[in-house]
Amino acid sequence: MKFLLDFLNQKAPRSGSEMPAYYRNALSISRKILCGYFLASVGMFLWATGNWLIVPMVMFAATLVCLLCTDKIPTRTNLIIYAAVTLFWCAWFIHTFGWSCGGQHLLLPLLILAFFNIYDPPWLKAVYFMALLIFRMCLYAYSLQNTAVYAINMSQSVLIQSVNSVTLFIIMACLCILFSTNLQDTERQLRINNQELHREAGTDPLTQLPNRRAMLEEMERFCKSSPDMPFAVAIADIDFFKRVNDTYGHNCGDYTLKQLADKFRETAGTEYSVCRWGGEEFCFFMPGKNVDEAGSKMIDLNVAVSRMPLSFEGNDFSITITIGVEENDFRSPMEAILDRADRKLYMGKSHGRNQVVV
Ligand code: GH3
Ligand code: MG
Ligand code: MG
Repeated sequence: MKFLLDFLNQKAPRSGSEMPAYYRNALSISRKILCGYFLASVGMFLWATGNWLIVPMVMFAATLVCLLCTDKIPTRTNLIIYAAVTLFWCAWFIHTFGWSCGGQHLLLPLLILAFFNIYDPPWLKAVYFMALLIFRMCLYAYSLQNTAVYAINMSQSVLIQSVNSVTLFIIMACLCILFSTNLQDTERQLRINNQELHREAGTDPLTQLPNRRAMLEEMERFCKSSPDMPFAVAIADIDFFKRVNDTYGHNCGDYTLKQLADKFRETAGTEYSVCRWGGEEFCFFMPGKNVDEAGSKMIDLNVAVSRMPLSFEGNDFSITITIGVEENDFRSPMEAILDRADRKLYMGKSHGRNQVVV
């Protein structure tokens, strides 16, 4: 029941949109098979009835014209012509040879085509479903009340039934292969796009470092998977960064942030993570380290940054950073630990900058 409700609640894309290419392919492949089928029918029915029956020839011609014009007529019109040919063929077939030769089975591809058309709303698909079912039942009722035009013998009946069954199975298999392959491709592409979007949403565009959001996610994942593991966090802020911008320009400020990010990335390697926390602040997350181990890493980094030569448009300069380090106390939530690291950073700022506060 639930799957029926889900189906009825589906939203179709804006009506009037051109149908997707895979749908045109499905029509084109079915038509190619039907062309062969109608051509074979001309000979087959000549053998069975002794007459050149005009209907299979007309059906062959109509299908061939549609096949040749696949790219010229809109897909929806193409589909309507396909449905009209099939419905007419089934009706004529039952009228001419009766129910036992299996012409009615060719209605099934129409059902598949109706349900895989994502551009029609669910209620319309339900209407197609009912209409095809009623059509088939009416054909059956007709065949019960009327004798077939041609009384064919057993071996002719076996041949016609076999050709119908083989044609139906080939069309159905082709449609299933086409639609399922398309669904799998779409699903795979969606996954790739989602991964890319997720990566972009978690990356700082200037420095290409993870941003605050990605870092918080990483911290949360770590705390969930290893609640008993120690870790340390550190927040670094560039000293007097406003002066860099004011003296050498905003582009130089950006250059400095990028150089610093490269330095941090290179130093962190796979040992710990670093992100752009915001503005000219960076955050480090060090799983498995206590405050002393993390502090000593940060002291080395602080020295390395102060010695890092920077040069932008002929101006040589250097910068320093102030860092606050804190560790997991296994009691406080992450925000509280980060808040304590931040307060240590500002303690360092008020005590003269260019230092690490542990
Ligand atoms: P303090 O030592 O107290 O941290 O001084 P400060 O000058 O570094 O701090 P302040 O908060 O006064 O200024 C931070 C500056 O960082 C101001 C802002 O324009 C600059 N900034 C933040 N983000 C960017 C950025 O993406 N690019 C550039 N060029 N500048 C940025
Ligand atoms: Mg600053
Ligand atoms: Mg700041």
